[in-house]
Amino acid sequence: MMQLPGGLIVNGERRRDFQFRELTGECELMLCEQPTPAQDDVFCHAQRVTHVLCQNLASIGGQSATRETVNALSVGDRQFLMRQLAVHIDDGVVWLTAVCGQCTEKFDVSFRHSELPVKPAGEHYPSKDIEISLGKVTVSVPTGNDQLAVVEIANQQQAMWRLITRLVRRKGRRQQLQPEQLTTEDIEQIEITAEAMSPEIATELSASCPNCQAENRLPVTPYSCFDRSADDLLNEIHTIALYYHWSEQDILALPSARRQHYIQLIDRSRGMADRHQMIHGGLHG
Ligand SMILES: [Zn+2]
Repeated sequence: MMQLPGGLIVNGERRRDFQFRELTGECELMLCEQPTPAQDDVFCHAQRVTHVLCQNLASIGGQSATRETVNALSVGDRQFLMRQLAVHIDDGVVWLTAVCGQCTEKFDVSFRHSELPVKPAGEHYPSKDIEISLGKVTVSVPTGNDQLAVVEIANQQQAMWRLITRLVRRKGRRQQLQPEQLTTEDIEQIEITAEAMSPEIATELSASCPNCQAENRLPVTPYSCFDRSADDLLNEIHTIALYYHWSEQDILALPSARRQHYIQLIDRSRGMADRHQMIHGGLHG
């Protein structure tokens, strides 16, 4: 069974278990639907991830997947879950066309989402005490909550300051740390500590060019679920509605595996009808 590379701390215990719900057409359709521009201001990427994970997770760390729980997951765990959701929906071979950075020749690369490497969380996850110029501080890995807190800060430098004040707590002090108090070395040390603890998934794929053998790094998004087209799903709904006269709502509520089964049955009876017509037409033609 797959486990979170980081995990949640539940009652002092690190829990890495999670379970997806049975996939339905409704879930699939929700992934295809782009948030409308009007929603965009309030529905940023991190919120969309939270929403999708809440809808598709049956449990996480032995609890139900509420918005609070999903936002409290480390960024690495959230990316991992989005990729696992892609695997849950369809772990077929994915083809990419790459342009070689060396010889500019085009070539095709195939992979499966389930084969992409995962770096588990490091020691002390999710927080570690370190000594910086100000004394002892506790550094935590960034979570969904941290992403959401900085999402509206357009200035990158300011967003980083805000993130650091969220990730670093001074021992025994209530007030937040002021970023101006930190030296360059402090910031570097904080970043290294957070990075070493954070779980990570591969966002790049290495492929050698068949023409010049140069190694190429190709980006692979954790969010391929969001790039799916609704075309196949809508075709299937159309076919099932045509044969069984069920409503769109009822078909969408079917577990995806069962919907596929009906499609196979329809294809088979269509195939038989075609053969019948061929033989029939052949005899009388
Ligand atoms: Zn090449």
